[in-house]
Amino acid sequence: MKYLILVGDGMGDYPLDELGGKTPLEAAKTPAMDELCAQGELFLTKTVPEGFPPGSDVANLSLIGYDPDRYYTGRAPLEAASMGISLAPDETAFRCNLVTLDRSLPEQITMVDFTAGHISSEEAAELIEVLEARCGGGIFRFYPGVSYRHLLILRGFLPGFKTVPPHDYIDQNISSYHQAYFQESTWAAMLTEAEAILAEHPVNRRRLDAGLLPANGIWPWGEGTTPTMPSLFERFGIIGSMISAVDLLKGIGTFAGLDIINVPGATGFIDTNYEGKAQAALDALKSQDFVFVHLEAPDESGHQGSIDNKIQAIEDFDQKIVDGITKELLSKNVDFRAVITMDHFTPISLRTHTSDLVPTILYDSRRYKTGTGLPFSERATSENDTEILANGHRLINKLLEQAEV
Ligand SMILES: [Zn+2]
Repeated sequence: MKYLILVGDGMGDYPLDELGGKTPLEAAKTPAMDELCAQGELFLTKTVPEGFPPGSDVANLSLIGYDPDRYYTGRAPLEAASMGISLAPDETAFRCNLVTLDRSLPEQITMVDFTAGHISSEEAAELIEVLEARCGGGIFRFYPGVSYRHLLILRGFLPGFKTVPPHDYIDQNISSYHQAYFQESTWAAMLTEAEAILAEHPVNRRRLDAGLLPANGIWPWGEGTTPTMPSLFERFGIIGSMISAVDLLKGIGTFAGLDIINVPGATGFIDTNYEGKAQAALDALKSQDFVFVHLEAPDESGHQGSIDNKIQAIEDFDQKIVDGITKELLSKNVDFRAVITMDHFTPISLRTHTSDLVPTILYDSRRYKTGTGLPFSERATSENDTEILANGHRLINKLLEQAEV
């Protein structure tokens, strides 16, 4: 038996006037998911437990079978794992964005762009290298990542201030959170130096000359110490792979003890290598029991507020990933059970994540044509008094048809 979890990140949405009252998932042509849904089970999964923000970190932890209440320590330690950085027990990881701040108004600092104009990885690496050389060493260490996404490791435990995700404050006055970092003297010294370096750096002068946003600030957030998680092998005796373009998912996969497969051309956007991901999943299943395939593109389209991109991303997910994988397994008479779902909604109208229960298909190739008869949509569930899986992290037990070993 093979087990699959196929996730369209942020795929869920609300009905839109522009689509005649349909959601993007309903408007998209999704014959593969509709067929698997009609022949399978359909239920709602609570991926974001009470008291947690609806982040991809929390929601995907649930989907892969780990209770966020028990295992979630923060986003940054998960990303650190994906970058091959292991934290000592007394170290705290922070996601460290390069950002563009506007200080031109008195008493105000505006978060102009949490991506520093989608700065290139090459430019960013130059900046992070200088920050490490001049502000690192002592209790801080900087590690370069992709584009604006970097890591800051603190030797010691959580500081006594609250951090916030910069993408929640686009075009807003963020000065009170900025000042909070300066309450502690070691942080104040490090940040003062870092901002002075960034203000003068040739990379930023070149960006300004080219009409691009400068990376004139760093924004540490998402902090946490390293989680201790038993692997899926220890829990269920299964081995498997994580297929995703996104560091966060690779980090979760690392902690779950999965092989991390890097697919060439997997970008996290609508131009990603869908066929490559499907093929990687099929290759992994030749020798393994389980794959988790994650597609970021519907979420990015939701954040952009682009209906067309979201529909395209969902149709590509359906055709190239869901159909691409399941058709091949069916044609080879390989028995499998598959979950097809999303981690959370990223509604076009809100351009951010919500905590709605997510519609979830569970298909079993051995019980072909005994299922719901419904198409896959957010609405099919609400109209049909559907079962609710209140502990989303138990989805894995349902998929594997087993309790913990
Ligand atoms: Zn997500």
